[in-house]
Amino acid sequence: MKRILITGGAGFVGSHLCERLLNEGNEVICLDNYFTGSKKNIEHLMDHHYFELVRHDVTQPFMIEVDEIYNMACPASPVHYQYNPIKTIKTSVMGAINMLGLAKRVKAKILQASTSEVYGDPAVHPQPESYWGNVNPIGLRSCYDEGKRCAETLFMDYHLQNEVAVKIIRIFNTYGPNMNPNDGRVVSNFIVQALKGEDITMFGDGSQTRSFQYVDDLVEGTIRMMGSRDGFTGPVNIGNPVEFTMMELASKVIELTNSSSKIIHLPLPQDDPLQRKPLIDLAKKELNGWEPKIHLEEGLVKTIAYFDNLLKADN
Ligand code: NAD
Ligand code: UDP
Repeated sequence: MKRILITGGAGFVGSHLCERLLNEGNEVICLDNYFTGSKKNIEHLMDHHYFELVRHDVTQPFMIEVDEIYNMACPASPVHYQYNPIKTIKTSVMGAINMLGLAKRVKAKILQASTSEVYGDPAVHPQPESYWGNVNPIGLRSCYDEGKRCAETLFMDYHLQNEVAVKIIRIFNTYGPNMNPNDGRVVSNFIVQALKGEDITMFGDGSQTRSFQYVDDLVEGTIRMMGSRDGFTGPVNIGNPVEFTMMELASKVIELTNSSSKIIHLPLPQDDPLQRKPLIDLAKKELNGWEPKIHLEEGLVKTIAYFDNLLKADN
């Protein structure tokens, strides 16, 4: 049995990770400040003998004896990370320093949830890990993109300078149950709008692309990365390489929800990447043949069922 700290454990991805690692027989400490996460996401784990919940902000140091740390704390939706950009960059940078300092002291292995956003609006398509990216350092998205880039730098420097065992994953757009209905990301927005019969808010003409990964595939890749061979630090892309336009996504959601919602077009936000698709050869090679298993339609059906229940419970 390992003792594992998950920062951001009450969030969308963190809550799935808490559940999976508990089910595998580990002791899990979930740390969160509840900015975008919710106790509801982990309510069902509260009675578990080996689950512990701590209200804490990663911008402050935290002391605990653990074997592994999954550093997931950071708002991920543009709406939320732009709400307080200074706090967002502090969370990424000071959070990384605090968690790396902890890992160094207690000799824990530490994994960083980095992002495809380190590639910015990519000029290379699809994106390999060797691509350095195309990020605006002073735009609306910079607090998130540059915070995550700096965190990657810190992870590599703690590894090289202090021999901390680090693992970096670059997560591409992920969706599934436990997303906050007000999260603002495209999959949750479109599903909630379609279920309520409201207009579907398409930013721009909808020709921009993303590659959507179901959360279970991400969790599998993340755990395999933590268990990968000594000395393999990444960064490694974890995403589903099947690419869709936002118009295609909207059509699928409307079809699967049998909704009468209409698509309306709103202005494209500043620096919104035009395209995004991971190359996953490195993940396949290093993570024991890992690749996404859940197709968009299958994942959307599960996510729609989740939001449908949530909306019915609210009424
Ligand atoms: P989320 O917003 O649902 O979860 C983030 C969690 O971190 C929340 O529970 C939030 O309350 C907590 N948090 C935020 N700031 C904190 C702080 N200062 N101290 C302690 N806790 C704090 O987002 P998510 O989709 O679950 O993302 C999890 C991680 O994965 C994030 O680091 C995100 O950047 C990364 N990521 C996610 C995606 C995706 O598509 N979901 C893509 C790329 C990267
Ligand atoms: N988007 C949209 N309508 C929405 C929310 C998002 O058309 O209600 C678009 C957004 O402009 C972007 C894509 O969907 O092109 C993915 O947005 P999201 O915020 O989910 O993630 P990110 O831009 O960080 O990849």
